[in-house]
Amino acid sequence: MPTEEASKPVVIVGAGVSGLALGNFLLREGIDCVVLERRDRDHVERRQRAGVIDTRATRAFRKRGLEDRIVGGSPVQAGLGFRVDGQDRWLDLVADEHREGRFCPQQVLVRNLITVFEQEGGDLRFGTEVTVEDGERPRVRLGDGAIIEGDFIAGCDGSHGATRAAIPEGRITRHSHEFGYAWLVVLTDAPPTRQTLMAIHSRGFAAAFARGPEASRFYLQCPLGDTVADWPDERIWSELETRFCEPIATKGTIVEKGLVPLRSEVLSPMSHGGIHLLGDAAHIVPPSSAKGMNLALHDADVFAEALVRYYEKDDRSLLDAYSDTRLRDVWNYQAFATWFTDTVHDAGDPGCRGEFRHRVARADLARLFTSDTANRLLSEFIAGLN
Ligand SMILES: Cc1cc2nc3c(=O)[nH]c(=O)nc-3n(C[C@H](O)[C@H](O)[C@H](O)COP(=O)(O)OP(=O)(O)OC[C@H]3O[C@@H](n4cnc5c(N)ncnc54)[C@H](O)[C@@H]3O)c2cc1C
Repeated sequence: MPTEEASKPVVIVGAGVSGLALGNFLLREGIDCVVLERRDRDHVERRQRAGVIDTRATRAFRKRGLEDRIVGGSPVQAGLGFRVDGQDRWLDLVADEHREGRFCPQQVLVRNLITVFEQEGGDLRFGTEVTVEDGERPRVRLGDGAIIEGDFIAGCDGSHGATRAAIPEGRITRHSHEFGYAWLVVLTDAPPTRQTLMAIHSRGFAAAFARGPEASRFYLQCPLGDTVADWPDERIWSELETRFCEPIATKGTIVEKGLVPLRSEVLSPMSHGGIHLLGDAAHIVPPSSAKGMNLALHDADVFAEALVRYYEKDDRSLLDAYSDTRLRDVWNYQAFATWFTDTVHDAGDPGCRGEFRHRVARADLARLFTSDTANRLLSEFIAGLN
């Protein structure tokens, strides 16, 4: 029999945005949990990825009294900047009531979530890689063989994590889509010239995003077969300047580069017995849609509410509905992410998917700047409220 310390109501695997947000949401409601993370604290706090928290996620922090401590001071996202064939095109997000999204780099969000969780007395263990075991009461096994049982295991451990691997074959279906190209992902130590800028150009898509006062992310569409060795620093700067049709004012030093094949994935259902999947463990969207981190936060919001209902009222209805509730949203966002990704890439290089797709994408893009209806739909998806 496990000892008393080796049992927690909720065991959260992974201290990324979904695991840490869930941990904080549960602590606010007095539900005991443990967060187990395989990497060390420094690695987790420095990991640079996303940069925008949408309106729906901001509201999830607000309704629990956490907005100021988690996203306070982050600037509001009011629109999207494009450079189409070298011409600046600013897309003001029309839905005023939805303008609560914030520019908040993922590493800042994660650091704040860790700080608040620990200040509130949360149990967070770094350097703790686990395997997950299915059963009447699911459990995790730590590296030293110790076991922690839970009423529930929250699999917040990303697409290569241990939780999805614990679900028996045949219980979950994996739906996936490859876009057929990759992004070269570049991190520099210089401040950005502008918050968000997406270049549509015949040589391919490019983007520049702010990631805090001392970091910028640049992205370049490239063929799937490319390797990092194909992209020496000089080639990166030259290609960015070609696609943006302007010099990059603050280049800085390139501190990281890698290749990310653009792909989407959904695991269905997102629950199996007492095991529930959140964030990238359950679904991947291409980074072009800026929705991965937000979907992870929306999962944490919905799952926390389901657990509160269960522990306070002995009512399982929201838990039983968790997977269906989230999959409705997730597929809606996959639809948006696929359309947006196709549009900004097809509108650039006609050689990518042909002249017909290119012209359709150009028409779609133009409509965003001329039609309030098209703009409103995009604004609502960006806000996470569609
Ligand atoms: C280059 C890039 C750019 C992106 N840009 C954006 C963007 O602009 N906007 C956006 O919304 N999203 C973006 N994303 C996606 C976003 O970063 C992810 O969707 C988000 O991090 C998912 O959060 P998560 O909590 O599900 O997983 P993660 O943040 O990946 O956290 C999972 C955690 O689980 C831990 N773990 C794994 N296995 C185990 C184990 N066995 N035991 C213990 N711990 C384990 C991992 O170490 C990790 O810390 C981007 C992603 C990339 C790669």
